[in-house]
Amino acid sequence: MMQDILERFLFEESPVRGELVQLDTTLAEVLSRHPYPAPLARLIGELMSAAALLTATIKLQGALVMQLHGTGAVKLIVVECSSDMTLRAMARWDGEVADVSLAELLGEGKFIITLDPEDGETYQGVVGFEPGQSVAEIIENYMRRSEQLETRLWLACDSEHAAGLLLQKMPEAAGEADDWERIQHLAATVTEEELLTLDSQEVLYRLFHEETVRLFEPAVPTFACSCSRERVGGMLRMIGREEIDSVLAERGKVEVGCEFCNARYEFDQVDVVQVFSGHGLQDAGPQVH
Ligand SMILES: [Zn+2]
Repeated sequence: MMQDILERFLFEESPVRGELVQLDTTLAEVLSRHPYPAPLARLIGELMSAAALLTATIKLQGALVMQLHGTGAVKLIVVECSSDMTLRAMARWDGEVADVSLAELLGEGKFIITLDPEDGETYQGVVGFEPGQSVAEIIENYMRRSEQLETRLWLACDSEHAAGLLLQKMPEAAGEADDWERIQHLAATVTEEELLTLDSQEVLYRLFHEETVRLFEPAVPTFACSCSRERVGGMLRMIGREEIDSVLAERGKVEVGCEFCNARYEFDQVDVVQVFSGHGLQDAGPQVH
């Protein structure tokens, strides 16, 4: 198994930059938590790759969250990536999940990307998508609309490996259409197998050996969940004492599970009194979703 990696690079003689991401361990961590049907597992892997590429390319300090709400076989997918390249993901589905397009899986669906910087305001954008569009095409359109940046993506996932390649035309380079075209054509020769199984630098060499490519220090994506007992406590306070007390009366304890990592949090009568005692009310922490 290769180490998970996110390579950043730029073309010395052309106003184009790029990133390549490969996720094996991180994907395995996510998929080990729920028995996702294969087409859904592949979709989660593609979205995780896309989230890592976008987080790195927009140089976000904070978290990027992709939320897909559906009325079809897939009800919900949430993929999060933080600027330190930790990822987590979860999905809810119902019944058979066929190997069809994202639009068909979601039905009357909604795709939302939230940028949640450490400093500054949260920005939420609705991502438009049409039947038959791939995740890569949907994200390319999103980047064009929201960031006004020409971006190309290639995404792949086979349930064991997830990978993605991103190219972006640098904004200052309006007059360099030829370079952008040429490098896109080179990148477009990449196969899913190459992306998923070759060493990252070998992929880049195969595609761009005729160009001068400068590689930066790579990042190592990992799985991590940001859930905590404190955050769950904050959630209980938002639900309200009355409702929590009625759960306590019925079951003797309040149990909350994290769908991202399967951690379970239990609160008995004494814990609930503590949660609502006012201590920590001010520092409930940010709600993740
Ligand atoms: Zn968790």
